[in-house]
Amino acid sequence: MLTNDELAKWDRESFFHPSTHLGQFARGEAPQRIVTSGEGVFITDRDGNRLLDGFAGLYCVNVGYGRQEIAEAIADQARELAYYHAYAGHGSEVNITLSKMVMDRAPEGMARVYFGLGGSDANETNIKLVWYYNNILGRPEKKKIISRWRGYHGSGLMTGSLTGLELFHKKFDLPLAQVIHTEAPYYYRREDSNMSEAEFTAHCVARLEELIAAEGADTIAAFIGEPVLGTGGIVPPPAGYWQAIQKVLDKHDILMIADEVVTGFGRLGSMFGSDHYGIKPDLITSAKGLTSAYAPLSATIVGQKMWDVLTRGTDEYGVLGHGWTYSAHPIGAAAGVANLKLIDQLGLVKNAGETGTYFWQTMREQVGGHAHVGEVRGEGMLCAVELVADKDKRAFFDPAEGKGAKVVAAMLKRGVIARAMPQGDIIGFAPPLCLTRQEADQIISVTKDAITEVLG
Ligand code: PLP
Repeated sequence: MLTNDELAKWDRESFFHPSTHLGQFARGEAPQRIVTSGEGVFITDRDGNRLLDGFAGLYCVNVGYGRQEIAEAIADQARELAYYHAYAGHGSEVNITLSKMVMDRAPEGMARVYFGLGGSDANETNIKLVWYYNNILGRPEKKKIISRWRGYHGSGLMTGSLTGLELFHKKFDLPLAQVIHTEAPYYYRREDSNMSEAEFTAHCVARLEELIAAEGADTIAAFIGEPVLGTGGIVPPPAGYWQAIQKVLDKHDILMIADEVVTGFGRLGSMFGSDHYGIKPDLITSAKGLTSAYAPLSATIVGQKMWDVLTRGTDEYGVLGHGWTYSAHPIGAAAGVANLKLIDQLGLVKNAGETGTYFWQTMREQVGGHAHVGEVRGEGMLCAVELVADKDKRAFFDPAEGKGAKVVAAMLKRGVIARAMPQGDIIGFAPPLCLTRQEADQIISVTKDAITEVLG
């Protein structure tokens, strides 16, 4: 085994890490952590630290670390058939089985599932399918996509454009021209303090209507949104939001893409966020929870309305020219089958709802009263603590002070991983769905101590 010093050096000299300050990392100024193993909700690093992972990796290790059932399923599949492609009607027992399992769990009205590798490529697929759909329907002008500020949909060219966070656009010449953004349904950050939640929903709907009117409904193909805003701040929607948005989309014949990369397969305490909020999607994006990240795999679930047009398209124009070498990879599919079985066996969807609600409600009771905690919010196994400079005025800290990052660093010293969300001083939590109440209490007590250390 390599010594820690060798690994650390090679890492700084050779590895181009995603979403990292490259200069600081190369110079040894930014932190480095070499992770060696995981068990349940804990990971261990090469320095011997055992950390409670309150973010399940990147909200993805939903069944927790070290599940031997999934490791065995992957190993068995690798021995039997590590790979064969899925083009031109080829399949294997494992990816066909997974497609059946996904469709059995999908919301009503969905017709087929296409498998990719991750959330970004699944959303690229979605936008291509939306454009194809409107071309087949003879509406070549109906192509723009509406996304929301603070939405997160990936970091490719199209998906980075859909993402409504500055960090993902800056110096990349994004967003692309076909993407337009509308207001984030972020009640806590509303401009007018006097607005009720219902009024704020009406305000978001009015902003969407204005955008559609300004651009022309006949130029707009689809709306994409996460049931609960994730990377943009972990923000559940205001009351009545999805029903009201859905009405506008239906009126203007705009497709609805539910990006369930975070919420799919149980995180909200429902199998899908679309079921949770009564969303009627034409496409669903999922990835993370599909395999609990034991292997890369994503799913684009296509609704019947779109499926009918896609099949008509291939009858008229031939084979659909879209696919990746690794679409429906058997090893990813093996992880998916074993993962979905485990979620059922362990009752993790129910636990996400029950223990998740206990977690964010207790967090609210324990830290919500602090002078610099503006809001504690949550849904299922998602929670956010938003820090403020002045609670009464809802005034935020200067981002340069990095208060959120400081609290997260103070938590790390105490053995708990949380995530400083990229826009705002927001501490995010998305633990594995197998979290126990005792582990929830540990996260909460560490959060409380860290906030006191940094903010008094
Ligand atoms: N969509 C949502 C809602 C996400 O949270 C993410 C990743 O965090 C993505 C898409 C992109 O997924 P990936 O990082 O697997 O490309």
